[in-house]
Amino acid sequence: MTTYYPIYYTRRSPCSTRDHLGNGGCPARNDIPRFLFSIWKGDFELAFRILKRTNPFSGGCGRFCDHPCEKACNREKFDEPVDIMALERVAADEGFRKGIFPSPPERRTGKRVYVVGGGPAGLTSAYFLARLGHEVVVFEAEKKAGGLMRFGIPRYRYPEDVADYEVEYIEKTGVRIETNARIYPGDIPRLLEESDALIVATGALKGKRIGCPGDDLPGVWQGVPFLRDVNLSPEISRGDIEALSERISVGKEVAVIGGGYTAFDVARTAVRLGCSVTVYYRRTESQMTAHPGEVREAEKEGIRFVFLSIPRKIEHAENGRYRITFEKARLGEPDESGRERPIPTGELFTAEVDRVITAIGEDSTLPEVLPEGVPSTAEEMVTFPGGKKRVFLAGDVRKGFSPNVGMVVRAIGSGQDAAAKVHEYLTGERLSLLPEKEIAFYETIKVRYFEERARARLPKIPVEERRGNFRETVLSLPRDVAREMAGRCFFCGICIQCDWCYDYGRGAIAKREIPWSPDEDAFFYRFIRERVTAKTEEAVEACPRCTMKMVPDKGEWKKAIDEQYI
Ligand SMILES: Cc1cc2nc3c(=O)[nH]c(=O)nc-3n(C[C@H](O)[C@H](O)[C@H](O)COP(=O)(O)OP(=O)(O)OC[C@H]3O[C@@H](n4cnc5c(N)ncnc54)[C@H](O)[C@@H]3O)c2cc1C
Ligand code: SF4
Ligand code: SF4
Repeated sequence: MTTYYPIYYTRRSPCSTRDHLGNGGCPARNDIPRFLFSIWKGDFELAFRILKRTNPFSGGCGRFCDHPCEKACNREKFDEPVDIMALERVAADEGFRKGIFPSPPERRTGKRVYVVGGGPAGLTSAYFLARLGHEVVVFEAEKKAGGLMRFGIPRYRYPEDVADYEVEYIEKTGVRIETNARIYPGDIPRLLEESDALIVATGALKGKRIGCPGDDLPGVWQGVPFLRDVNLSPEISRGDIEALSERISVGKEVAVIGGGYTAFDVARTAVRLGCSVTVYYRRTESQMTAHPGEVREAEKEGIRFVFLSIPRKIEHAENGRYRITFEKARLGEPDESGRERPIPTGELFTAEVDRVITAIGEDSTLPEVLPEGVPSTAEEMVTFPGGKKRVFLAGDVRKGFSPNVGMVVRAIGSGQDAAAKVHEYLTGERLSLLPEKEIAFYETIKVRYFEERARARLPKIPVEERRGNFRETVLSLPRDVAREMAGRCFFCGICIQCDWCYDYGRGAIAKREIPWSPDEDAFFYRFIRERVTAKTEEAVEACPRCTMKMVPDKGEWKKAIDEQYI
């Protein structure tokens, strides 16, 4: 008969990763339970350092991430998810506040990697490759690196000094960023010649046209270029919003057409420039792709919404204004996106405004970067014709042939993947981005140990203070509240030295008396071999967060038992 023995056996939390069933956790593979535990202990700097292992943009993600981690959080089944995103911001801002920077890696591989595009995908791949010892150069078309985080997402959601710090941190790992360096298809053969591998991460920036007569009139603007003009302007950096409004000349009444991130950022930016804004969308509120929190904030800021309206014509009106003709729609059968399709009703109405800004989505820039003849529809990587050199793709440039696009955190995950592929291509070494481990799902957590407790409400600046400036709208959690909220975490699958196993071990478990660290957490205790009995299984049952396991003393488990038994 096989005898089973207890061992410590950490697991992955569902919030941290996508599991085999497709449940979405953090695409950036953040070690969520360990950074939350560090906050709970009051060690904010350790939390910052744990996050920097996976995510160079925690200061950004802690502010604007779509936070799929919270949808996967076990605590959702108990009361409400842990405030992972807000706590990530608190941890990230600790490094920013203290001005913590890394030292360049000692390892040097002698390999050179070029990255085209300095958005979150390109910069993340550069960050990981530099830490692995490769020489990395990023070519960025704009005057500042950061991609859409820098020139799409407005300052009131991601302040300039935080963005500057996160980019500088990457540079301090040894990455060289060349700004104002747009790459054209004709440059690609030279870049391939000079480097050992090339990553293209130029994003999806080509604004889609709405496809009605007049959508290309001179005063009909596209959302991303408008945001870029505002976000990269010298006026915004020196806080002179009046001068900015005057130069941009956006007018008093603005119509925004669209219902995604871009439409909301355009509308809320226009409000801060002093405009009165109406958003027209061909579907309904519940079908908008922007985050629900954004819709609520936009409404509070006085933005009006007209749903089920399809633009049919844009033309010049009196006094330099524009007249838009819309057709009313009703909802029909679901389309390929799973949302009910807007069906035109034939009923028309018009609106007159000073400015029309369209924001209905963006297409990949890949055809603008790769020379003709290079296939541009591969998921991750394309082989350059006539040579061994390979071009790796990362981030939203894969839009149209990968579903994993359209969010900063996905671009970060994709940047990690590209870095791992390039590293393997250059050195033959395969990296494990996530350890292969079981997942501590809700059913494995002993919820009897925990009490119901509400999550935090994030502080915001009053609505009346949001016009005429780009001050950050959502504020950070105070440190004491952050610690309390981090303490709501079950710390699924990791050992936090809570001693429940020790107490239930009836003398069969010895403490190693070493301080908690994110790297050693499976080995804080040892079993005393001669005292382990069938009763010791109660220690495994007692662990609130599923960090132990009963295993046979043979095969793959023998090593773990030998390590953990004295
Ligand atoms: C207005 C707006 C708001 C958004 N808000 C959010 C949000 O709140 N949360 C969220 O998760 N996601 C948001 N997104 C989506 C998110 O910004 C993108 O998914 C993400 O930035 C994609 O990252 P990327 O690195 O692939 O591309 P990008 O961020 O687009 O970066 C690509 C970079 O490549 C550069 N480049 C392009 N062509 C060249 C060239 N030929 N040579 C050199 N450089 C070049 C560009 O200048 C840019 O810096 C938003 C998108 C938009 C448009
Ligand atoms: S990066 Fe986004 S998904 Fe990942 S832990 Fe942070 S908020 Fe969650
Ligand atoms: S309770 Fe904590 S560790 Fe568990 S899934 Fe939620 S955030 Fe992750």
